[in-house]
Amino acid sequence: MSLNNLDTLYRQVIMDHYKNPKNKGELEGDALTIDMNNPTCGDRIQLQLQIEDGMVKDAKFTGEGCSISMSSASMMTQAIKGKKVSEALQMSSSFSNMMLGEDEEFEDDIQALQGVSKFPARIKCATLAWKAMEKAVKE
Ligand code: ZN
Repeated sequence: MSLNNLDTLYRQVIMDHYKNPKNKGELEGDALTIDMNNPTCGDRIQLQLQIEDGMVKDAKFTGEGCSISMSSASMMTQAIKGKKVSEALQMSSSFSNMMLGEDEEFEDDIQALQGVSKFPARIKCATLAWKAMEKAVKE
């Protein structure tokens, strides 16, 4: 899939996150750390979460991969920061539904990834960061 197949506005949002990712780097101190990769595309991510009192206090990631996987990690960390863990998991499940082609409303940049649902080979790129987050909080 070429990003050219996505809506121009959404493509811009994705490229902005790819070029200037939010929350890229490593957390200091105690953090949950999860490594995950997507062999079909070669994406890999290390996600770090700081959870306190059932809230996602901070989230950061490092990794390499395609624009969809990296922009999704940037958007995901931005979206879950300051949220309850239960809300983060709810968002993750909404995101999975959106990748299955269901109508889901996100109030932020995440909506830009909606078009990825039309390209099944790239869905795992978009869900990688979310799966890492789910795994981290469930362990
Ligand atoms: Zn990818």
